[in-house]
Amino acid sequence: MANAKGTEDNLMEKIVALSKRRGFVYPGSEIYGGLANSYEYGPVGAELKRNIQNEWWKTFIHGRSDMVGLDSSIILHPKVWEASGHVSGFSDAMIECKKCHTRTRADHLIENHFADRQESVSVEGKQEAELDAIIAENAIKCPVCGSFDWTPVRKFNLLFETHVGIVPEAQSKVYLRGETAQGIFVAFKNIIDSTRVRMPFGVGQLGKSFRNEITKGNFIFRTLEFEQAEIEYFFDPETTDWKGLFEGWKRDMEAFITGALGVRKENLRWREHGDEERSFYSKRTEDLEYRFPFGFKELWGLAYRTDYDLNQHMKSSGVDLSYTDPATGRKFVPHVIEPAVGINRLLAMVMLDAYTEDGDRTYLRLKPAIAPYKAAVFPLLANKPALVERARAIYGGLRTRFPVAWDDRGNIGKRYYAQDEIGTPFCITIDFGTLGESADPSEKGTVTVRDRDTGAQERIPEAELGEYLHGKIYR
Ligand code: ATP
Repeated sequence: MANAKGTEDNLMEKIVALSKRRGFVYPGSEIYGGLANSYEYGPVGAELKRNIQNEWWKTFIHGRSDMVGLDSSIILHPKVWEASGHVSGFSDAMIECKKCHTRTRADHLIENHFADRQESVSVEGKQEAELDAIIAENAIKCPVCGSFDWTPVRKFNLLFETHVGIVPEAQSKVYLRGETAQGIFVAFKNIIDSTRVRMPFGVGQLGKSFRNEITKGNFIFRTLEFEQAEIEYFFDPETTDWKGLFEGWKRDMEAFITGALGVRKENLRWREHGDEERSFYSKRTEDLEYRFPFGFKELWGLAYRTDYDLNQHMKSSGVDLSYTDPATGRKFVPHVIEPAVGINRLLAMVMLDAYTEDGDRTYLRLKPAIAPYKAAVFPLLANKPALVERARAIYGGLRTRFPVAWDDRGNIGKRYYAQDEIGTPFCITIDFGTLGESADPSEKGTVTVRDRDTGAQERIPEAELGEYLHGKIYR
């Protein structure tokens, strides 16, 4: 009986182990003992990540006439981050154990303490002194050494600092971007001056963001560097109803997760931020959450940020970032709705959701369009040159159309097992029937195609293989 998720409690460990074993995700800098909160994407992980990015770009940039793409810098002028509020306000409340020097986020420490007791607590928006009080009142101990000897809670900025040039001076200080969104606001004037976009329209970008995260664990859920996919959707608040737009984005985001990425709807839910949690400039923020093995957690944030960012950059740069409606001549500072997601979190979700145990078989039920390899080609026997030659020719032909794997090691069962674990939807075997050397002459020129999810096999004429696979993968 297929078990869609494995057992909940050890699903994460299974995914971490599978990721390393099969080349999805490795611990970062492992030969040097590792670097906390950093990971490397191996050969199949790199493919899966790229496929998710491509689906996002295809859906939200190419698939819409009201969207354009952007690729801005990781290192922006430091004033960008002062104006956006990141230098003063982009911080987490941190606490350090005086005994073992473990540093942890105070909100996570408190939340985990209550979660262990099956209780929930809201610490969003609480000040350092309030967090100190909760930790003291509940005598919350260090999760690593068990001591109750904490430093006071203090704010810890998440922006990574570096220097431009060879001398580290105050004037040369810059930041690695903490989000891709600010690059969109900074480029806003150039985009409206250089393209034919008309309100309402959106700008999307994909790229690395960096955050000095101190919380460890939960695999690639929260890392020092991650791939962000952010959209700023600009509109005129006088003529566009923001509530309708907001609801539309909710539908589009959810449709992407369930449609393009093939994730189960029952593992998703929306959570609206309360007044304490929401940024002061936001009129509404909702998170699309996924049911990770460690609970429902934010996957994709959706925020109505009003005209806050453009106004801040107007004030700070002195440049007019307003927009003039060509039809009415009305000049205004556009408002934005921002859907912001991390590709790495999507990848973790996709793997968790696809993980399936069926008897002694384990496979990733990935949607074929995002699977690292669309098919794998095997000669039935590696020591029969005629089979290998024919299989190589088929492999070479298919590779001009799809990413395809080759395997001639071990027996067929082991090859299926390996491809199942990386989610390859189709395995193609070239056997004696293909060569016209089996008892059944009708098998000549056909190959066996085995379906990952059902294990069913059918013979397909070699000449029709490309079209057959195309139809199944991109249906
Ligand atoms: P969190 O509350 O989880 O720290 P956030 O609210 O700070 O996240 P945003 O600033 O809204 O996150 O970022 C948008 C998206 O970017 C998040 O929904 C998440 O998918 C992703 N993201 C944010 N921080 C990280 C990180 N450190 N590692 C991986 N993905 C991240």
